[in-house]
Amino acid sequence: MKLLVYSKALYSTWIYYSPDRILFDAGEAASSILGNKAFAIRRIFLSHGHADHIAGLVGLVNIRNNAMGDREKELTIYYPKGNYLISEMMAFLARTNRHLAYDLEWIPLLPGERVELLAAQMPRYIETFPTVHVDNEESLGYSIVEVRHRLKPELAGAPQSEIVKAVRSKGRDAVTETYHQRLFSYGGDSVGLRPAFVAETEVLCHDTTFLDERDRKEYKHATLAEAIAVARAAGVKKELVCLHISSRYKAKLREITETALANEDLGFKVTLVPPGRIFAVD
Ligand SMILES: [Zn+2]
Ligand SMILES: [Zn+2]
Repeated sequence: MKLLVYSKALYSTWIYYSPDRILFDAGEAASSILGNKAFAIRRIFLSHGHADHIAGLVGLVNIRNNAMGDREKELTIYYPKGNYLISEMMAFLARTNRHLAYDLEWIPLLPGERVELLAAQMPRYIETFPTVHVDNEESLGYSIVEVRHRLKPELAGAPQSEIVKAVRSKGRDAVTETYHQRLFSYGGDSVGLRPAFVAETEVLCHDTTFLDERDRKEYKHATLAEAIAVARAAGVKKELVCLHISSRYKAKLREITETALANEDLGFKVTLVPPGRIFAVD
């Protein structure tokens, strides 16, 4: 997993996933902080239309048009269909960038859709899922899913010679089955995600705006306890990345994490992304 995360509630959130050159959300300063990597982006997936998740599009679209080199590379932006804030941004970018040197394509998506990704070895795709954030504003979460092969369970423990024999006589499909593994899931801004949508994902990025439930005045964002409960119910395999943390907790981040996780045997790592700092997740 190669992730670069920048997230500070209210200000800016974006995640760069380098293996597939995907940017999830595009909060302000995405292009200036990503530097050269901003030109490597092939696809952007927007979770919803709030300024802290889309303001960075203005810079991204512009630098690609005006910088030297990399100007012919196409860029595709996927977004929740019907989101009026994103439609306004789309219209603004079209009016202010009339002579783009590259193809900029906007593709609306609904929950439950798939977007095929070109991957070197294993086929991968993006899967969309619904999230709950603000009424009447469409929002989506995204998972990167890889199609993998494994030995059929009934052959587990069978002698190697028997497996080789079966492959020779009946072909590889006789001994293997395909399965779909979520590598990474991102829910954007949301209250607790439905665990089934991110089941068994390796890395889950979950809204964790509030570390203390008492600070939450409206039911639009999640708490640390909820993020952990979702990850546990979903059977997250490697890591829960808590982001969109309010900067009010900046000074007490470590202390709060240690208290929250004391005596917890979760089976996955919990990482809190410090608000306002570029953060790498391997
Ligand atoms: Zn939002
Ligand atoms: Zn936000």
